[in-house]
Amino acid sequence: MPWLRTLRQGKVRSLDVKSEEPVKNKEMKGFIKKARKLAKPFRVTDGSFRLKDIDPGDTLHFTSEDKPRAKEALAIGISVLAELQNMLYAQDQWAVLMIFQAMDAAGKDSAIKHVMSGVNPQGCQVYSFKAPSDEELDHDFMWRCIIRLPERGRIGIFNRSYYEETLVVRVHREFLEKQKLPPELVTKHIWEERFQDIRHIERYLTRNGVAIRKFFLHVSKEEQKKRFLERIEEPEKHWKFSVNDIKEREHWDDYMKAYEDMIQNTATRHAPWYVVPADNKWFTRVVVAAAVIEALSSLDLHYPKVSKEKLKELAAAKRALLAGK
Ligand code: ATP
Ligand code: MG
Repeated sequence: MPWLRTLRQGKVRSLDVKSEEPVKNKEMKGFIKKARKLAKPFRVTDGSFRLKDIDPGDTLHFTSEDKPRAKEALAIGISVLAELQNMLYAQDQWAVLMIFQAMDAAGKDSAIKHVMSGVNPQGCQVYSFKAPSDEELDHDFMWRCIIRLPERGRIGIFNRSYYEETLVVRVHREFLEKQKLPPELVTKHIWEERFQDIRHIERYLTRNGVAIRKFFLHVSKEEQKKRFLERIEEPEKHWKFSVNDIKEREHWDDYMKAYEDMIQNTATRHAPWYVVPADNKWFTRVVVAAAVIEALSSLDLHYPKVSKEKLKELAAAKRALLAGK
């Protein structure tokens, strides 16, 4: 992993990642380059994707011995992210939408928590989508997501999203029946139509300054079982356990098929999917952080340039302040 290698060689040791100091510009550029390289193997931008090509246990060629360094790399990544988010907020032009999808216990919540831990909460909006309410079922499926899109200058995080409309709703037809759609509109083409609608909406959003990145945290069935058992055995994890999650395991293969089809049909250059190996949380977080850095750094963010008049105003204000008491 290029970040880890750099850290091991001591090239960025001068960075005190625990301090509040912003990352220096030159170091930031180098780090962004490395982040891009790291995220690239997991980025999907077209329909040629096959789920079997991504191993949930993949950590590139790094072992668990590299874990402490991965943590350091993540800490640097988080400070780079904080700086980029500051610029995003100050520039107030782009919005960034990050969508997280996964099977239960894949680590969506903890990836979001760790990767976003350094960003200014004022510039970040997280929303978790559950089974739709009666009010939500009275609208088209996009409605509840559209009203929660991030404003310009903000990072919006969807913990689950409209993609559930092609996942859980596809695996459990009874959810589709609850959607009160006119029956003549529910044909065998419905999933292809949903993919098409999603592609169009994402194209539209991109053209309106919303940069979209989508993450599928790909956990294996074995690792999920291990995490469920931990939830049952450890009292402080009981609250995370839901019997329903166990039932969903029975539909594992249907879900995998639905995920693959969804990614093949909705991965585009402007709104790529990242299929992130999720059996090792330390690795997942580093890849997600790298992809978010990649997304923000592709936007040519900069602090707004101040006009000559404004500079004059600032100089006059400084003089007045220094002259006074
Ligand atoms: P998560 O499972 O995301 O960690 P949670 O356990 O806190 O969150 P749940 O009550 O399990 O929350 O809510 C998520 C559930 O909502 C998932 O099982 C998901 O499949 C379901 N869901 C989300 N969107 C839809 C939808 N459009 N139609 C039906 N079910 C949906
Ligand atoms: Mg759940």
